Amino acid sequence: MKITIAGAGAMGCRFGAALAASGHDVRLLDGWEAHVAAINDYGLRVTDERGTRAVRVPAALFRAARFPATADDVPPADLVIVFAKATATAAVAAAAAGAIRPAMRVLTLQNGLGNIEALLPYVPRERLLAGTTTLGTELVGPGHIRALGSGETVLGGLASQSAISAQRIVADFSSAGLLSRASADVMAVIWAKVAFNCVMNSLCTIASIPVSALARYPGFDDLAGTILAEVATVAAAEGVRVDTGAALALMKAQFDPAASGNHLASTLQDLLNGRPTEIAHLNGAIASRAVAHGLAAPANALITQLVGLLEATHDRRVTSLR
Ligand code: NAD
Repeated sequence: MKITIAGAGAMGCRFGAALAASGHDVRLLDGWEAHVAAINDYGLRVTDERGTRAVRVPAALFRAARFPATADDVPPADLVIVFAKATATAAVAAAAAGAIRPAMRVLTLQNGLGNIEALLPYVPRERLLAGTTTLGTELVGPGHIRALGSGETVLGGLASQSAISAQRIVADFSSAGLLSRASADVMAVIWAKVAFNCVMNSLCTIASIPVSALARYPGFDDLAGTILAEVATVAAAEGVRVDTGAALALMKAQFDPAASGNHLASTLQDLLNGRPTEIAHLNGAIASRAVAHGLAAPANALITQLVGLLEATHDRRVTSLR
């Protein structure tokens, strides 16, 4: 299959490397010049428990701000996987709009709410697929990723006629070593991950702690329950059921260092790297969608503001007594 990956950070590279190594014709598009150059010069280096290897995958520079793209910039592909940060989806989609051809399928596995809405103006509903992945991956430096442990990718079409496309992608991903399954209710899958991230990413970021440290806080169930109740109310207004009990149980299972206990939430990693977080697509989206539905989500609104404060002041943090 010809696959283009739009946004080749940690996750785009993880999927790109696995799919290229299993024989697919993969092309990476990314806006970080040094990263693109390193991938083309030395191969995409992947470190995992087996060591470090270089995978040959062509990469091209694609800066949303500099395009609109033409068909020459984005060569024909059967599948485009969008793996930009959620904050960049709208710009990437608008820039790539001129290169999206009738036969292409487009898949988003990004975190947060709003990716589907950003893509739909450019991709017909029956050719758009969406989902989530729990594979953990870090960008070590230009052209180099660290693939962490195992995880599952769940995806499905937004329209019933996409079920066959979803099954085919699942088969290709699975044979590339990317454990995957199809879901007939992909919005429930996406919302379940949003619920998880609205609690875990935001609390770990505000407290500046790894996931396991949340276990020490006796008020965790109360705090998580407040955030989750708001998420579930907004989801219900959009016709999606979020199982808050299951979400809480899943979170607590991650406290174990053998699960994700030592993991640093992506929002915290973004903050520490001085990069924009996806908070507007997590708690921020819950707060704004609540308003749109005539509901209130004060906990999620406050969390969004607190993370905004942390982002604006990240280089002024006091880390010791003066
Ligand atoms: P990322 O931060 O690795 O990369 C995002 C973009 O930022 C890329 O274009 C990358 O090239 C650029 N970038 C990163 N470091 C840079 C630097 N130092 N200088 C210049 N540019 C730089 O993003 P990601 O982790 O691949 O996330 C993509 C999507 O997948 C997000 O929606 C994320 O929430 C989701 N996701 C990530 C993981 C994970 O473990 N990384 C897991 C599941 C879902």
